[in-house]
Amino acid sequence: MKDSDCIFCKIAGGDIPCTKLLEDDAAIAFLDIGPLAEGHVLLIPKHHYVTVDQMPPDVAAAVLKHLPALGRAVQSAVGCEGFNILQNNGPVAHQVVGHVHFHIIPRNSGDEFRFNWPAGLYPKGRIEQLAEAIRKELATRNL
Ligand code: 5GP
Ligand code: ZN
Repeated sequence: MKDSDCIFCKIAGGDIPCTKLLEDDAAIAFLDIGPLAEGHVLLIPKHHYVTVDQMPPDVAAAVLKHLPALGRAVQSAVGCEGFNILQNNGPVAHQVVGHVHFHIIPRNSGDEFRFNWPAGLYPKGRIEQLAEAIRKELATRNL
């Protein structure tokens, strides 16, 4: 599956260049051209899926299996203290490129990258209600 208008399909197909880090049948990883930190990596499936929920489980597994090694390699190569794995789904979640991608973002104390993390509290009973609704969805879907 390929989308002829998709920049990451073009990268995966070798039609436009990237700074490649690894590649196999299912996935390709390369450096982000607009890095949030030096060594900011993108890991993508070779096939075109817009959001992570569209990926079949075996494709997801074949892509995500690269995360541990990429995380170790980036940490060693750039000497960062930690890293974030970030994956945006939909424009509301800051997805700009409509082809699934996992960001590996090197982090150091005092760096400029910030999350607004407005953690809330559940009113009594709400957490169980939500869990039940999600379990029901999981049970009715083909996983
Ligand atoms: P999003 O906001 O969709 O999660 O992130 C898209 C990312 O793709 C951005 O960090 C952006 O810098 C990166 N990007 C967009 N176009 C290209 C490109 O042509 N080459 C590379 N290497 N990265 C790209
Ligand atoms: Zn694509």
